[in-house]
Amino acid sequence: MKQVVVVGAGPAGLMAAAGAAAHGARVTLLEKMARVGTKLSITGNGRCNLTTTAGGSDLIKWFPGNGRFLHSAFHELSNTDLREFFHKRGLQTKVEQGNRVFPVSDKDKDVATCRPPSPRGTWPANMRP
Ligand SMILES: Cc1cc2nc3c(=O)[nH]c(=O)nc-3n(C[C@H](O)[C@H](O)[C@H](O)COP(=O)(O)OP(=O)(O)OC[C@H]3O[C@@H](n4cnc5c(N)ncnc54)[C@H](O)[C@@H]3O)c2cc1C
Repeated sequence: MKQVVVVGAGPAGLMAAAGAAAHGARVTLLEKMARVGTKLSITGNGRCNLTTTAGGSDLIKWFPGNGRFLHSAFHELSNTDLREFFHKRGLQTKVEQGNRVFPVSDKDKDVATCRPPSPRGTWPANMRP
């Protein structure tokens, strides 16, 4: 079994850890703060603005500078894919003004602690609800 160490449990690290675990790796996620997803929690005034419904070229043109380099990343995981990722884990989402997507619960902790669908991808103990 492959062993993967991810340093930093922000949105990028959490997704990397979940992705590696989904592919069968044994994952260790290291975080220097007392809890995971600290900055994630403060987005959207504490409700976690987890993505937008605007996609494709609209999204890319909002990035300052040369956003075109993001085409391949968004092709791999689009805003629609991300919402589906959360829906499969039992986190329902809603859309508010400005195309902003939030958890229906309005609770940021529900985003960081939602569970993967398979027993293989178990979250580390400090990420369980
Ligand atoms: C006030 C505010 C409001 C925001 N609002 C929004 C919004 O509404 N919508 C939106 O999409 N984005 C918003 N953002 C931006 C969003 O928070 C960031 O884009 C996102 O958090 C970046 O994720 P990341 O995983 O790359 O980095 P981070 O979230 O910064 O995560 C990095 C993690 O690594 C940890 N770390 C660093 N060094 C080490 C180490 N040596 N060892 C162990 N752990 C380490 C950190 O503690 C942290 O938890 C907002 C940001 C702020 C500050």
